[in-house]
Amino acid sequence: MSVVEETSSDSTTYRIHRVMADAWSHTALKDSLQVVADGVVEVVGFGVAAVSVLHDTGELEVVALSGDDGARDELLGTFSPLSGLLEELTVAEHWGPRLRFVPHERLSQNVSTIGWVPDYEPVDDPDAWHPMDLLIALITDDAGEIRGSMSVDLPDDGMRPGPERRRQLETYAEQAARAIVSAVERARLGERVRLADTARKVVREAAGELSSGPLLDAARQAVVDGFDIQGLWLRTFDDEDDERQRANREGTPIPAAMLEMGDRIARACWEHQRALMVSTRREDWLLSPEEHQRICDFLLAVHVTSILVVPLGAGQECLGVLALARDDTDPDWSDAEIAAALEIGQDLGRALLTARLFERERKLVDELQQLDAYKSRLIATVSHELKTPLSTVIGHVELLDTDDELSSRGQASVQAIGRGAHRLHNLVNSLLMLAKVGDPHNVIEPVLVDIGRALKEVAQLLEMQADDRDVTFDLVTPQDAVVAHGDPYELDQLVTNLASNAVKYSGDGGRVELGVEEGPAAGTLTMWVSDEGLGISESDQQQLFAEFFRSTNPQALAQPGTGLGLTIVARIVERHHGRIEVDSELGVGTTFRVTLPLAP
Ligand code: ADP
Repeated sequence: MSVVEETSSDSTTYRIHRVMADAWSHTALKDSLQVVADGVVEVVGFGVAAVSVLHDTGELEVVALSGDDGARDELLGTFSPLSGLLEELTVAEHWGPRLRFVPHERLSQNVSTIGWVPDYEPVDDPDAWHPMDLLIALITDDAGEIRGSMSVDLPDDGMRPGPERRRQLETYAEQAARAIVSAVERARLGERVRLADTARKVVREAAGELSSGPLLDAARQAVVDGFDIQGLWLRTFDDEDDERQRANREGTPIPAAMLEMGDRIARACWEHQRALMVSTRREDWLLSPEEHQRICDFLLAVHVTSILVVPLGAGQECLGVLALARDDTDPDWSDAEIAAALEIGQDLGRALLTARLFERERKLVDELQQLDAYKSRLIATVSHELKTPLSTVIGHVELLDTDDELSSRGQASVQAIGRGAHRLHNLVNSLLMLAKVGDPHNVIEPVLVDIGRALKEVAQLLEMQADDRDVTFDLVTPQDAVVAHGDPYELDQLVTNLASNAVKYSGDGGRVELGVEEGPAAGTLTMWVSDEGLGISESDQQQLFAEFFRSTNPQALAQPGTGLGLTIVARIVERHHGRIEVDSELGVGTTFRVTLPLAP
């Protein structure tokens, strides 16, 4: 969990400008201000009343005017700087909270504030209205910021207004202020809904991100920008200890008890699919008065007046919590904002779940790959170390085997040692071969390999073995050479392993066919080894190429073997961008078919 205190001042300023522009352009506001101006003219009794609103450029625009037509033509829609007006008002008499009066004799020479001077003769009275008199009400919002002004001229009775009319003017100015403030508020709420909607879209787009770190960062930024908030707490529930520490290091430290309460609230919120608004001004559905107080005390300490707690989750599971924080000047959260925030919690929850699953899978694959690499290294090292002493053993056994002085018992022992040593030697060779063809760093340096010839050579090599069992080889090769592009030693090993299995698992007097042809697809060749032997059960076929797999069939198990031959075959095929298929029926026979790319 971390606390973000990000609000860019540029974007905030821009946002306020947009809100004001929205508020002022609203015809409803102009209508309300026109009603105010009409009231001043008709009820209070002035020849002209003008209401202006303040733009972010610092200029006042006259947006409503009542009374004199000449004044309307000249003034409506015009702009004048607020600074000029404020300068004139430095010498003003304060007639009320809003009302300011500058008698003409105090006014500076270059009066341009209203820009219109009526053609009017003052009556003969010390309190008579002078055409250059300035009477204006400043329209301010709740925070005391100037939002506009209301100016009047040409009193019906020709006199400067007395207490009663001043009071009436104050009332109208207040009405204008209310209209302006509520227009700003409306525009601001509209803006917020728009922003929350944008945040929702950003989070939805970020949901394609498959790492939870960047996903949460993107979502965090979108929420801070979109909801126009002072701070954001974002907490996920997977690595709680870690998260807690992070929360304590960055930003505002959050007491453990508060975190626990937050977790509980998030889970309850997820269950009810609701958000929880906690503010010093109100109580909410989920909290006891004590809990509410504890949260409010904490919020007060971190200068936050209201938070919106939104659960993150997917399906049944609550995965975390978002708490959006606003300070004192902000009004409460609108329904549209709450709905958008809840949707973000759902979108983000789903995305988080996917990202986590993906990360877990990636980690698992990494670990398995490391394990696999370790295993391969171990096998290669051990096999290598075994090879030299084994060769010595075999050499000495062969030497002893020719020794005539050895007793018959001694000879039998030497032959047993020899058989054992040869089996070990085969195993070591297979392991070394497996390490070699399983090593992705060991790349093939391909040459042209005539597969028909390889089949023939292997048949010759296995002739003795085949003769022992009365097995015959049939070679099916076309006239023209069928040539693959690959490692000759590996392709030879591939054929040898398949063919020796065919012999090994054939009954006496069986027939083994070795064949090759071009096709079936253009640019490919198919090589096959088929026998009429034991066959392989359906369930064994599923695991045939796994390391160290040996059949469950006792007849097959009776044959010596390591369970590595077909694994090596499969790796070699893969390294040559080929495919291998097996077609077998128990008691009928087996065909292995290998498809490889034809040499270009
Ligand atoms: P090995 O032959 O050393 O046991 P392999 O990896 O070559 O190991 O073969 C794995 C298993 O597949 C063998 O134990 C055997 O049961 C079965 N198998 C392989 N080739 C054949 C075949 N041509 N006919 C019947 N079973 C076979």
